[in-house]
Amino acid sequence: MKNSILYQKYRPQTFSELIGREDVSRILVNEVLSNSIGNAYIFFGSKGTGKTSIARIFSKAINCLNLEKNGDPCNSCTNCKSINDSSFMDLLEIDAASNRGIEDIRDLKNKVQFAPTSGKYKIYIIDEVHMLTKDAFNALLKTLEEPPENVVFIFATTEINKVPETIISRCQRFDFLKASYKDLMSQLNKVTKLEKIKLDDDIKDLIITISEGSFRDTMTNLQKILSIYSENLDYNDVVKILNFPDIEFLKIIWEYLFEGNLEKILDQFERNTIDVVSFVKNSLDFIKKVLVNRTLEKQYYKIDDKLFENITTDKIFNIVNILIKTLDDIRISSSDIICLEMAFVFIMKDLNILNKESIPSVSYKPNLIKTKSVEVKVNLNKTISVNKDNFISDKLRDAWPEIISRTKSFNHHMSAFLAKSNFSFEDNIFIIQVPFPFYRDMLIEPKSKEYLSGIIKSVIGKDIILDCIVDKNIKPFIVSSKSNNIDEDDIKELFDIENSL
Ligand SMILES: [Zn+2]
Repeated sequence: MKNSILYQKYRPQTFSELIGREDVSRILVNEVLSNSIGNAYIFFGSKGTGKTSIARIFSKAINCLNLEKNGDPCNSCTNCKSINDSSFMDLLEIDAASNRGIEDIRDLKNKVQFAPTSGKYKIYIIDEVHMLTKDAFNALLKTLEEPPENVVFIFATTEINKVPETIISRCQRFDFLKASYKDLMSQLNKVTKLEKIKLDDDIKDLIITISEGSFRDTMTNLQKILSIYSENLDYNDVVKILNFPDIEFLKIIWEYLFEGNLEKILDQFERNTIDVVSFVKNSLDFIKKVLVNRTLEKQYYKIDDKLFENITTDKIFNIVNILIKTLDDIRISSSDIICLEMAFVFIMKDLNILNKESIPSVSYKPNLIKTKSVEVKVNLNKTISVNKDNFISDKLRDAWPEIISRTKSFNHHMSAFLAKSNFSFEDNIFIIQVPFPFYRDMLIEPKSKEYLSGIIKSVIGKDIILDCIVDKNIKPFIVSSKSNNIDEDDIKELFDIENSL
């Protein structure tokens, strides 16, 4: 889908047709009109920002036999036509990703010496120029140092830091920013109108969000939608076809959050596999749009922002701060889901909607983890208690305080969690019962699991299968001096979160 049909069809053919590239096109048009064409240009920007489209328009303009007064190529002379159908002998487009060696550039150097055959200028567009090898860059540099007459190089790159400074310094550099929301929306409006299709604003917003500032991706995503288009196409169909479930999921989660229903949120997290970082980033993107609409007092972003209508702007800023901090926390944490759960607790607390009743009465079904390729089955209805008749259980009970103490050196959160948990041992399966899902997430994290299994093995002298289940009513095997209810101090103590809010 790299070059979608729509993208080709609506690719701008003149400077005037470009949307949101006025900064670059104004300079190039001036050069065309004043006939002061440079030898080398470098276009830097992320994918789909119009680098090669502009390179082609510029190539046409400097070879056009019938240039428009405003500097646009005519698109009807033989040169323009042959560039449009890729048959123009004096325009060579090279993909440096597949022609990156010294031989390719030597070949180019030889050809450069010959005068243009049919145009005024011979043009080399080298895409992804940063992919060239060091030797190839050196060979290219020699050509740039003594450029033959009427040869124009246009380099395009997504990674300017990988292009040698010696090359960049010999080029006119143009930076292509990502397309703005407004520009992408006007492109979408234009194309949907020409294609005679009607899309709701929230669908257009979704396309733009997914396309991340790329004209090409915007057209490619629109094309995917056209493949299933009908008059009654709805938002959810589009979410599916664009493979973007997060937005719907995101709305559900925030709805629960504003209801103060932590339990339902945790339940959703248990039942869905979520990409926490995307979830937080998408939430921030959505909230940014809410804030902009509210500040401008108009629907600048075409989103359904009813969800936040009862939340004051100050509180929304607090939410943003908590989410930004969460992204930082995720980077250094072993469990991103814990960071997100914590963020929600803090947001609810800030909104004053966190009440004890909403704190996990978790109906968590243990997701049994495979260890050593053994599938473990446990009868969940069985009351899990320490089997006093079992010799190993007794041994473990005796050693439990020591086990907890030993885990301190590995991770003091682990020892704190274990101190508030209980356990059972049956059929070689060691099950830790914990009061909260985030305890479980930490304990079954591979490194924690490996460490803890090792300690237990050293106590009972054999390998065990370790699992963890959540039961909010669990009585800790060692009764902690604190109550088993979660409170802010517990959270701060367990996660070293001090003065974070
Ligand atoms: Zn022309």
